[in-house]
Amino acid sequence: MTSDFRSPDWRQSFRRRLNRWFKNYARDLPWRTTSDPYLVWISEIMLQQTQVCTVVPYYERFAERFPTATQLAEANEDEVLLHWEGLGYYRRARQLHAAAKQIVERHDGEFPTDFESVLALPGVGRYTAGAVLSIALDSRLPIVEANTIRLYSRLLEHRGDVTLVESQRRFWEFAESILPRKSCGQFNQALMELGAEICKPKSPDCQTCPVRMQCPTFANGLQDEIPAPKRKVKFEDRREAALVIRRDDRILLRRCGDSERWAGLWDFPRFAVPRNKGEVTTTQLQDGANRLMKLKIIPGERILSLKHGVTRYRISLECYAAELDSRTEPSANESIRWLTLKELAEAPLNTTARRLAKHIAVEPS
Ligand code: SF4
Repeated sequence: MTSDFRSPDWRQSFRRRLNRWFKNYARDLPWRTTSDPYLVWISEIMLQQTQVCTVVPYYERFAERFPTATQLAEANEDEVLLHWEGLGYYRRARQLHAAAKQIVERHDGEFPTDFESVLALPGVGRYTAGAVLSIALDSRLPIVEANTIRLYSRLLEHRGDVTLVESQRRFWEFAESILPRKSCGQFNQALMELGAEICKPKSPDCQTCPVRMQCPTFANGLQDEIPAPKRKVKFEDRREAALVIRRDDRILLRRCGDSERWAGLWDFPRFAVPRNKGEVTTTQLQDGANRLMKLKIIPGERILSLKHGVTRYRISLECYAAELDSRTEPSANESIRWLTLKELAEAPLNTTARRLAKHIAVEPS
């Protein structure tokens, strides 16, 4: 058999091997039992930058609560975010909600079936549009995403930086060239499955790979070099403070603004403080509260210290109790709420705010 991936023989053989393997080894996943493009779309958005095993329970809860685009469009944003809480990359949830409204307004609540209309939805790019339409409707559209980029790189023995425009162009051309005439949804899912389960970033399982005889990277023992290693992320240490401000049995929460991380989610008033060791000083806490919300506060005890990472930041979060100086009394509005512990349990929070909320629920001050 020719080793040239451009030849019809190579492509035919590749498809046959891949499809046979997928029929035997495809994972049983909840979104694989539907051909509803709306539900396939939900699964595709959730799967962006998130592992399959994490997504499964979220998808099941989401699909049960919002089984149609209309029901998603009619829900309030807090409820949508609450169903997303813990999945991360919250912009996806807000875009999903905005897209559902667009589907209702422009398509009478029916998920569009033409490529351009799907591409016009907020948060949908070429990959997602192709994946949804091929998986749900068998449209003949190629896919390129993280798992297939790795697979294509190795099948093409592509040594360049995979993020470069010319690399991306090469992957899209390759993806297009190997598409079968029919059953494209099945074929695209098989490609992603092979990338995720066999052609893994470290120690790919080449011995069980159905296409190893067609893989130059395997033949030349270059699995550790292809794809080219990513540039290492330079982490930055940060220190932040969060305030638990109480009034009677209620706690002050703030909605994160559109330009902030965790946009749309609720959080305790939280701000950066200098990275010195030990306690955050009273003045630093007062300045931070004043900068963030024009609050005059009287800081109390430190109640919790948390460490977590967000993108390239490694954050030490110091959580303090505080009282409001009687001269500032913010009333509730769309970005401020006074919540009871019970209401706090039902509000969409970022991960650290949830940990702090749980802590104060069992150790009320
Ligand atoms: Fe990936 Fe190995 Fe299969 Fe090549 S043989 S596609 S490197 S798993």
